[in-house]
Amino acid sequence: EAKRDRSGLEVYIAGRDEQHLRRLGLIAALRDAIARDELTVNFQPKVDIPSGRVRHAEVLVRWTSGTYGWVGPDEFIPLAEQSGLIHALTRHVLDAALATLRGWCDRGLDLAVAVNLSAVDLVDASLPVWIASRLAHHGLGAERLILEVTETSVMRDVDAAVALLHRLRGAGIRLAIDDFGTGQSSLAQLKRLPVDELKIDKSFVMRLGEAGDDAIIVRSTIEIGHNMGLKVVAEGVETPAGLEALRAMRCDMAQGYLFSRPLPAAAFEQWCRAFAA
Ligand code: C2E
Ligand code: CA
Ligand code: CA
Ligand code: CA
Repeated sequence: EAKRDRSGLEVYIAGRDEQHLRRLGLIAALRDAIARDELTVNFQPKVDIPSGRVRHAEVLVRWTSGTYGWVGPDEFIPLAEQSGLIHALTRHVLDAALATLRGWCDRGLDLAVAVNLSAVDLVDASLPVWIASRLAHHGLGAERLILEVTETSVMRDVDAAVALLHRLRGAGIRLAIDDFGTGQSSLAQLKRLPVDELKIDKSFVMRLGEAGDDAIIVRSTIEIGHNMGLKVVAEGVETPAGLEALRAMRCDMAQGYLFSRPLPAAAFEQWCRAFAA
């Protein structure tokens, strides 16, 4: 029991060293994975509540490392941001999403893809031109792409981010505010953002329809969104009761395990056809 003889501080430092080593190892492994094309993307439907039609597919990156096994995006996206790998990761995810969407359009599916951007992407002035060139390469209109950004990532360098968002939206790309309600931003700041869609964070949505739920928060968020002229999307919809509550509140779109978990492209396509039938 070597650990028992060590002071609390020693254990703390050893723990921090282990964490530090894992982070360094993960960054190296992630760099290789991006270079070798080992990242994949899954897709999760965003469903129009009044019509019951699938409108968008949110693109969620997945990584199974040879050394570390499955690693969640909540762990490796921050590492990618800190290490500068996020630029390559974002481009990889965007291009994979657009290539998949090209195939869906060719096979008669009328969908748009929603890709997540990180805070670092929002100060990357070369991104809009790169995206435009990839849309053209795949023969897709800008209306086929939605970019999701969080309040928190926009506020990190708000002037640069707002300028970039205006350029993206000027090119015809739609923008969504993700994880709405979890950030520190004020409504005055939000009004400055050129966005089309507001996504209510799943922490407010998951227990809708249960006792002591967050219905008041969700209802007023939907009202705020509509007053700002935005489409409102609820994420983390897990139950039929939750969906019915959202429908009664005039929420526009729903996303969550009730419909489907995020799926690989082929399984997502099959799911869409079965859902529409
Ligand atoms: P997010 O953008 O808020 O994505 C929604 C997360 O909620 C996803 O987790 C999704 O699998 C999960 N989710 C969907 N429906 C439900 C539900 O009904 N219940 C519950 N409990 N969870 C649900 P995931 O895939 O683990 O992604 C976590 C976060 O990692 C994302 O949160 C996003 O911030 C980030 N992320 C994922 N892919 C990318 C990417 O390609 N680029 C960037 N920059 N970030 C990404
Ligand atoms: Ca998102
Ligand atoms: Ca979210
Ligand atoms: Ca999130």
